[in-house]
Amino acid sequence: MIKKGILESILARRGKDPSGLIEILRDVQAAFGVVSPEAAARIADRLGLSRVDVEGVSTFYHFFSSRPAGVYTVYLNTNIVAEMKGRAAVARAFEKAAGCRFGETTPDGRIGLRATSCIGMNDQEPSALINGVVFTRLTPARAKEIVAAMNAGRDMAALVKKTGDGANQSRLVRAMVDNNIRKKGPVIFSPFKTGAAVRKAVTWTPEDVIAEIKRSNLLGRGGAGFPTGLKWEFCGREACEPRYVVCNADEGEPGTFKDRVILTEMPHLLFEGMTIAGYAIGAKLGILYLRGEYAYLKARLEKVLADLRAQKLLGRSVAGKKGFTFDIIIKMGAGAYVCGEESALLESAEAKRGEPRPRPPFPVQNGYLGLPTTVNNVETLCAAARILERGAGWFKTLGTPKSAGTKLLSVSGDCRKPGVYEVEFGLTVRRLLEMVGGRDAQAVQVGGPSGNCIGRGQFERKIGFDDLPTGGSIIVIGPERNIFDVVHNFMEFFIEESCGWCVSCRAGNTLLKQKLEKITAGHGTLPDLGEIEAWGKTIKAMSRCGLGQTSPNPILTTLQNFREKYEALVDKSRDYITTFDLEAAVRDASAVTGQTLAETRHE
Ligand code: SF4
Repeated sequence: MIKKGILESILARRGKDPSGLIEILRDVQAAFGVVSPEAAARIADRLGLSRVDVEGVSTFYHFFSSRPAGVYTVYLNTNIVAEMKGRAAVARAFEKAAGCRFGETTPDGRIGLRATSCIGMNDQEPSALINGVVFTRLTPARAKEIVAAMNAGRDMAALVKKTGDGANQSRLVRAMVDNNIRKKGPVIFSPFKTGAAVRKAVTWTPEDVIAEIKRSNLLGRGGAGFPTGLKWEFCGREACEPRYVVCNADEGEPGTFKDRVILTEMPHLLFEGMTIAGYAIGAKLGILYLRGEYAYLKARLEKVLADLRAQKLLGRSVAGKKGFTFDIIIKMGAGAYVCGEESALLESAEAKRGEPRPRPPFPVQNGYLGLPTTVNNVETLCAAARILERGAGWFKTLGTPKSAGTKLLSVSGDCRKPGVYEVEFGLTVRRLLEMVGGRDAQAVQVGGPSGNCIGRGQFERKIGFDDLPTGGSIIVIGPERNIFDVVHNFMEFFIEESCGWCVSCRAGNTLLKQKLEKITAGHGTLPDLGEIEAWGKTIKAMSRCGLGQTSPNPILTTLQNFREKYEALVDKSRDYITTFDLEAAVRDASAVTGQTLAETRHE
């Protein structure tokens, strides 16, 4: 039963605009631990939507639940680095203390245990989100204490005794998260005077701003590397108005956490980048799409925006420029990796299911609410602000001719110094491993699960668009690890995060994972390796968005770079395994039906 008074006060506070649906659902989930059919019907009525519209959205995102998820909901990170750092023991401790398994809620409805893909804390695993509060470096003993506190009805925020560094200590954040900035560079992590970039930009024409960004060779930092100046130019040329600037702050690639640190320490630089983009393309509104996992930063980001308005760096006549009106709002995600894909992000920003759109048309033509929109990554927008401040010529002195500037790397895994490194493009993987204390690595996952897993023979390769591109995730895999555990974890991630629209992505990745399991169980043959390659190519070719187009990479890149490990597991003497253990194959089914194989045969 929902308390009608609470629901009505949420609805009254949020208004009747259907574009506020995700915010309403977040509030309802937080208040009741569930989005019940009753609540969905009332929300639909209030917003003028159908119940199918509301439930279509509420069932899409990880952080909404149609079954009671507990007064306290523990979202424990499942990614491979969490596993490396002892997640399994922490999970067992939560289960033992709470008295329920992951995926379940205690019978009294107090505690729900849920697994989640990546909460952006790979540098301080194992980690969990509990009622929006981040817990890092968990241990089994700590898990037991947390459950005791939940059973005592305590506020989870009260368990944060020691806050992390920098702005994590701010009254509006108070998180135990550490920034772990290990190397500062000149573009992102150098001192920045608020207003410096915007004040300079508005003395130029929008065309000149775009020309400067084009001259700098700034390429999108999300991984795809599309030229930012060109994107702004295409968007600004569209005849339709209004136009929008959307910042993609939904880094969800396992192993990525550098945007978290920018949002914590350099929000002014980011908001100036958004404002400059708005000036360049002729937009009046910017939207920061903030991943649900980073909701703990929202209050402070709102405060920074309020400060910028007070300084006339947002609002009417920005920086004194008559006729230039621009403001920024924050829209929240609710846990869906696919929303990092720009068209899915736009759907989500419109409070719909985060399903990628077919392209073309591209967002610069048909973006937010069907209007011209530039979607840029957090780091890209920061770099744009710095380019306006210090000049394209200066920017191009950094990095390589094809990859100008610096790149933020989120480094985690088997290394002594996990954290964020701002390095110039062109750095070799070997040099990076020396920096981070991971010299003995057997492999490095560059660019997260959708990237490339490289072995020792390729450590002289260079980080950059011309060789090894990355959105920022670098996972160091030590000599003791079983590489197939990493691949399996990544395939499970893609299966979990697929939106399910394309058969190739929805079913193909499950088939690939099953093939991997067949091989690691010792039942594989040489033709299985060929089938993996063929199926992987089909999935890439037939999938609509970047998730499906890169999802076979964990298997394909390890098969390419560690083929000997696969070949060591398969039977090379024949094409097909001729022995088949039928008893073993039906053992689970026998247990369920209570019939042996022999009994089934005689039926
Ligand atoms: Fe959805 Fe996967 Fe298709 Fe992308 S590729 S639209 S995630 S099913």
